[in-house]
Amino acid sequence: MLEIRQIACLDDNYGYLIRCSETGETASIDTPDGEALLNDAKAAGWAISQIWNTHHHWDHTGGNAAIAAKTGASVTAPEAEADRIGGVDHRVRPGDKVKLGKLSAEVIDTGGHTLGHIAYWFESEAVLFSGDALFRLGCGRLFEGTPEQAQAGLARLRALPDETLVHCAHEYSAANARFALSIDPGNEALQADADEIRRLREAEKATVPFRLGDDKAASPFLRWDDPDLRRHLGLEYASDANVFAAVRTAKDNFR
Ligand code: ZN
Ligand code: FE
Repeated sequence: MLEIRQIACLDDNYGYLIRCSETGETASIDTPDGEALLNDAKAAGWAISQIWNTHHHWDHTGGNAAIAAKTGASVTAPEAEADRIGGVDHRVRPGDKVKLGKLSAEVIDTGGHTLGHIAYWFESEAVLFSGDALFRLGCGRLFEGTPEQAQAGLARLRALPDETLVHCAHEYSAANARFALSIDPGNEALQADADEIRRLREAEKATVPFRLGDDKAASPFLRWDDPDLRRHLGLEYASDANVFAAVRTAKDNFR
């Protein structure tokens, strides 16, 4: 079984510690704050032996060195970004399997936010670690990749089972919901999701993880082929990537 600890770090990041309950092998998914993650692991009695990075940004790799120095943990990271991250022991590519004790995760290509961004998917557990590729009702800004690349990556995630629990790296859901409602106002699944997000935030609770099936129905970033959204954008006959690009640009300009 996979055990998961979710740790709020920095302003709005989530770090994750994951553990194979049979062997005790423990990994940190990204390292937004090395001290916070080490303290949490200590409190839980977990010994971090691996770090898995999704992409090179500092708020995902900044704690690598501190954790590796203290625990001797190995670092697994996307081959395409390993040189920028530094100190990488295992360079992985899309399609590779990464082992945690008796469990294993598949590496999924989600380039776009950064060129080599990857997600980690535990099929047997229906658990996804999506980094900055997919947020609740959102996706990461396209700092490096094209809309075509990002949409292809999100299509890979959208193809995963509905029951998949998505563990993303930021608590952006409330702002994402405001934007999503502006662009897809008639979507009842979105309205319900936005209500739930509002309730959770009012209670100062995390809106993450979330069910992938709910996001498929609610998020404009996963609905490039939806006729209503296309009509709203005036893009009935555009390619999927162009519809996605229009949504992404509208979000970038949304205030
Ligand atoms: Zn990032
Ligand atoms: Fe980030």
